[in-house]
Formats: sequence, structure tokens, C-alpha cells
Amino acid sequence: MAGSAVLANYLLAGVRAATEDALVPDPKLLDRAKALLEKAPLIDTHNDLPSMLLETKAGDLTSFDMSKVQSTLCADIPRLREGRVGAQYWSVFIESATQRTHTSLHEALREFDVALRFIRSRPELEQARTADDIDRIHQSGRIACLLGVEGGHMIENSPAALRIFHELGARYMTLTHWDNVDWADSATDRPEHYGLTEFGERLVKEINRLGMFADISHVSADTMRDTLRVTRAPVIFSHSNAFAIDPHPRCVPDDVLRLMPNNGGVVHVNFIGAYVSPKNSEWQEKRTTAVKDLHARLDTDEAIAKGIADWEKANLPPRGTISDVADHIDHIRKVASVDHIGIGADFFEAVPDSMVFGLENVTRYPFLFAELLRRGYSDDDVLKIAGRNHLRAMRQMEKIAAELQKSEPPLITEGLRAKWRA
Ligand SMILES: [Zn+2]
Repeated sequence: MAGSAVLANYLLAGVRAATEDALVPDPKLLDRAKALLEKAPLIDTHNDLPSMLLETKAGDLTSFDMSKVQSTLCADIPRLREGRVGAQYWSVFIESATQRTHTSLHEALREFDVALRFIRSRPELEQARTADDIDRIHQSGRIACLLGVEGGHMIENSPAALRIFHELGARYMTLTHWDNVDWADSATDRPEHYGLTEFGERLVKEINRLGMFADISHVSADTMRDTLRVTRAPVIFSHSNAFAIDPHPRCVPDDVLRLMPNNGGVVHVNFIGAYVSPKNSEWQEKRTTAVKDLHARLDTDEAIAKGIADWEKANLPPRGTISDVADHIDHIRKVASVDHIGIGADFFEAVPDSMVFGLENVTRYPFLFAELLRRGYSDDDVLKIAGRNHLRAMRQMEKIAAELQKSEPPLITEGLRAKWRA
């Protein structure tokens, strides 16, 4: 092991010990948080277990005993129980690069298949399609399972595919993932449409008519604003934080947060260090400077790649803490009110290095709520953030869909493919 890596590990161990000491909550607050989460129900709107099931054993569910802790996965029944999860949206996710090979829809169907087989494989789980289902399943002692499609590329410009996804149980679609789609811009791609195209607007309206949430995590700020302008129903951010606390393009700017009360939707905060820690942008700037320096000094791609890897080992990205996540929640409460906050942790890997200290896995939700109680949040606030805000928005979304279905025909026009992708 290189000297710098030994030093980095030593420092990391020190940071861990110090941070974990600071994160031990008052046992009374932790017990109160757990009791409230039993009641709530706690609804998490983003977990990538279906992708992990496909990646680790090609979707062979007989390889996993989900009634026991699975150290190679990001969720299992005992840990969901310990974390007091009442309802979970499992993410149907395929990389947006599949747009280039026109394999998005095919791969999405494999994700739906493994997610549905997983839900049906366990007596502790039941698929929910409505807010009433979530309440009923939670009251029966089982975990309600829903599906969310993470990226509009998966419909391949076809409202027919969108409707079939809804039939399979999808209750939100994130309009983009990391790359733009033909009808909407992503937060992490270059501006191309400057928001939604006219077809993008029609798709949002079809999402409204069907009875799904338009999910505006991952999209550009212009796409967020366009969606909020055209939607007839509450939207969600299934896993997004506040830009004012961590200025990452994936986070939500204040002018958009201010639109949430009028829309009735919910911003579900995530626990990924890069989208949480206020020190993240400073680290990104330092890394950019280091990479420029390496390019100036070194000749070969291999040497530069090794230089970047060494720099990252010696300069670990800031991970953030429970307290930082609570700061995002405080900020959204200040700008949009407590009625528009939810949880969408985004657990996606077995090793928790990307998640903030103290919220490493699905057992840890009560610790975040204990911190909110310590900050003076009321029992009612906790119930709202845990799940009742989501249920309120979902009931409103369902009611609007039922109305729209009486007066509007389905969208049958297929979208055109951009020339460069054709
Ligand atoms: Zn995501």
C-alpha cells in the first residue's frame, strides 16, 4: 500500500471515530423516533435494490435469503424492519447511455421483471398501487412496495411504453437521468432544449392523466421550472437536496423550492455525501485544479489516471453527516415549509462509502428523525416528513388523474428521435 494511502486510511479512521461519537443520539429521542416511524408509515422513495439483484447474481433470486441480512445487497427484510421502513419505492434504473444503443426499453423490462419477482417472492412484502394500498399494507404489518422509473429514456419516446410501465405498477417517472433525453434536459448534461420540449410538456400531462408522479430529481433547473408550470398534479423530487446548502447541479434551487407549496408536491432528501456535504463544491474545485496540474506535468494517460487516483486517495471527498442532512431539511422547511419534505435515501451499494456518516444503511432512518426531534421538530412534523406528506400528495395526484381520465384521451403521438441519436 502506498504511503499516502496508509495516511489517508489512518486519517479516515480518525474522522470516523470522531464523527460517530458526535452522532450518538439521546436514547429517549431515538425511542420516540422509532415509535413515530411505526405509526407514520415511513415511505422511502428511492432504493436501487433491483439493479443490485441483476448485477450481483443476474437476477437469480434463489441466490439470496432475504429473510436474513445480505451483506452484498443494499436492503433485506431484517434491516428494512430495523429501519422501520413502512413503504419502499424500488428503483427501475438503466443507464441513460443505453439511449445510444436503443436498448433502454429492453433493459428496463428486465428491471421491472426482477423487481416484481422480488416483491412476490416474500410474504413480508406486498405491491402497492395507491396511497390507500400503502396504508392498508402497512397496517397489516407488511412492507408496501412501489416502483419508480429512474429516467425518461426508458420509454424510448413512446407514451405507449409509459402507459405499460404504469400498468406494471410504476408510480413515478424521473424525467431524465444523467444525460438529456430527446424531450428534456438533465442537470448533469449540456443545455440542449433549455427545459422541456413541446413533446416533453405533453408527456408530463400524460403522466398526470395516468396517475403517476412526474419526478424532477436529476433534471436541469429549467426542466424543473417547466414541469412545475405545466403539471396539473403534485410532482415529487424522489431523491434531491437543497442547492443553497450544497451547490451541486443535482440539488434544488430556492426559486424552485418556493414553488412547492402551490404545487403540493414533496422534496424527498437523499443521503449521498456528494449531494449533502456543503464542503463538496470546494473539494470539486481542488480536484479540478489537481487534474489540470497532472495534465500539465505528465505525458501518458496511464500516469495521469494514476495521479488522479493517488490524489483522490490522499484527498477523500467530504461525506457529510446526519447533521448535514438535517440542515438540508431545515432549509427546505424554511423556504417551502414542513409540508413539502420527505425521504428518498438512494441506497445503491453494499459498501456504504458514498452515504453520509451515520446513515450508512437502511437500519439508520430512526437516527435522522432523532436528530430532527433534538432540533425541536414536533411529533406531527416527523410523521409528515416520514410519509404523510407523500400520502397527501399521492391522494391529490390520484384524484386529479381520475378527473382527467373523464375528459382527456390518451396521448398516442410518438416522440421523434433527435438526429444525432437516430
Ligand atoms: Zn439517482
